Amino acid sequence: MFDALTGIPNRLFYEKRVVEDVGRWKRFETPLSIAIWDVDKFKNVNDSYGHKAGDKVLKAIAQILHKRIRETDFLARYGGEEFVMLLPGTIEEETLRLANELRMAVEKCSFHYADAAVPITISCGISGFRPGDELAAVFERADQALYRAKAAGRNRCVVAACKSQ
Ligand code: GH3
Ligand code: MG
Ligand code: MG
Repeated sequence: MFDALTGIPNRLFYEKRVVEDVGRWKRFETPLSIAIWDVDKFKNVNDSYGHKAGDKVLKAIAQILHKRIRETDFLARYGGEEFVMLLPGTIEEETLRLANELRMAVEKCSFHYADAAVPITISCGISGFRPGDELAAVFERADQALYRAKAAGRNRCVVAACKSQ
């Protein structure tokens, strides 16, 4: 249930947890948001400084994100250099505010390799659950928002557009 490298919940744990959170959202109709994170240009980090340095960066990012979320929030390593967050009781706007704080915390954190500073940034796609939603659709919207964050230049957080927009 836990990822060996970072120590945070792994994808399997996420798959179980999301079913529970979506069930609670359907039953109680309290807000639920999802955020998908991806490290920017991470391939360059591995290529420039080596895989071991890349691993250290992933561990550090996981700690920064994990440290700053609420106890009722959930963070997992979804795969490679991607993380997913579940935020029960949190609407999209609040999620965006938190996500930008997390994003800036990673940006400000000074990673070093040998004596060189290694700039690290992360991007995020966010979507809230809306009436009648299914998980797959919400995840897809958050993923599309992440794609837009990347396309818009990276180191940013984007909320999924409403259907009417
Ligand atoms: P983008 O900003 O578009 O996300 O660019 P990117 O380079 O991060 O994207 P891409 O998906 O091409 O590269 C992801 C890299 O993440 C490639 C892979 O080697 C690296 N990676 C995935 N898992 C691990 C890991 O556990 N450790 C290390 N060191 N690298 C990993
Ligand atoms: Mg990726
Ligand atoms: Mg990436």
